[in-house]
Amino acid sequence: MKKDQSRIIREQAPRSATREHSVPLYLTSSFIFDNAEQGRAIFADEEEGMIYSRYANPNTSEFINRVCALEDAESGLAFSSGMAAVFASFAAFVENGDHIVSSRAIFGSTHQLLTQLLPRWGVTTTYVNSAKISEWENAIQENTKIVFLESPSNPGLELYDLKKLGQLKKKYPNIIFSIDNCFATPYLQKPLQYGFDLSIHSATKYMDGQGRVLGGVITGNKSLMTKLMFFIRHTGPAMSPFNAWTLSKSLETLGLRMDRHCSNALAIAKALEKHPEIISIRYPFLPSHPQYKLAQKQMKAGGGIVTLEVKGGQERAFQFIDALKMILYTSNLGDSRTIATHPGSTTHSKLTDNEKTSLGISPGTIRLSVGLEDLEDILEDILQALEVTK
Ligand SMILES: *Cc1c(COP(=O)(O)O)cnc(C)c1O
Repeated sequence: MKKDQSRIIREQAPRSATREHSVPLYLTSSFIFDNAEQGRAIFADEEEGMIYSRYANPNTSEFINRVCALEDAESGLAFSSGMAAVFASFAAFVENGDHIVSSRAIFGSTHQLLTQLLPRWGVTTTYVNSAKISEWENAIQENTKIVFLESPSNPGLELYDLKKLGQLKKKYPNIIFSIDNCFATPYLQKPLQYGFDLSIHSATKYMDGQGRVLGGVITGNKSLMTKLMFFIRHTGPAMSPFNAWTLSKSLETLGLRMDRHCSNALAIAKALEKHPEIISIRYPFLPSHPQYKLAQKQMKAGGGIVTLEVKGGQERAFQFIDALKMILYTSNLGDSRTIATHPGSTTHSKLTDNEKTSLGISPGTIRLSVGLEDLEDILEDILQALEVTK
């Protein structure tokens, strides 16, 4: 099977003796060995087999295999949350004295990891706040171990050129090139194809897509995964079988859902582009986006996030959010329900005004995570909230 959708739907944990059609939930902490010799052989890696759910479980393996099919990856590992995955993607590879190059526009907790936690173990980070490849290359030092980024960025929706970064990787083969691919999902963007070593996801977002469970996943080549596996086995950020079962089921509809998230988001961006109460609107597949051409090259569609700036600064932004009737305010994203957030006072509130501006966040900035409701209803809610707060 070559097509994504067929591969993820048909990739399934081995059928048990019960001959079930849909995969059961394997709530078991460990697995029995038929005899002492088998126990020895499995522990010695001479025979394949499950040992303990901190290492692997049929539900987590099925989830991982499905993500690998989507990402065209050799191998993958699942984590209890997106942050557990992001942390492991650094901690499994860096040593005291190592250096990381990262895009400045990254998820808040990742920023805390890089600036507050990793320095405790002697690992430093240089931020790059530019899409220019020369600036990325300039930031690389003798001791750089990892180059890390998110694309599109949150909430500015700035893109990085994955093909050019893949070429930079060729020039620095010993550096791990790693991307948090959460906003795009592997349905819209496949970074490993450009030469990236690791693709990381918070599965909590679009992979679940219904705001139910936390999860994280990393895909990449086998040799890096072996090192990551060592880290997981002995530090324990394993995904629970229940979460894996839930997420694996969700992946069967990822493509369908993403198509709808993207078409709703594009339609909303287009409909609001000329609205007199809106100063600016950002969406990667809107021709007015400064990197529209790049977006079309490396993404199948523009994603489910639209970032806009309302007139009237923070006061108006707050009034707008409070005037929404259907759309709810929560810090999550990638849900079937449309969500509005005010990054300046929540997810990015710890930044200085200069830092906010450089990431495209102004007092009037609103991030919309466009859901799967009928387009007319989402649009109507936004338009009425703009109208009553004029
Ligand atoms: C939510 C998110 C994370 C963290 O994932 P959790 O599952 O909440 O731990 C990391 N990166 C990005 C881009 C995210 O949106």
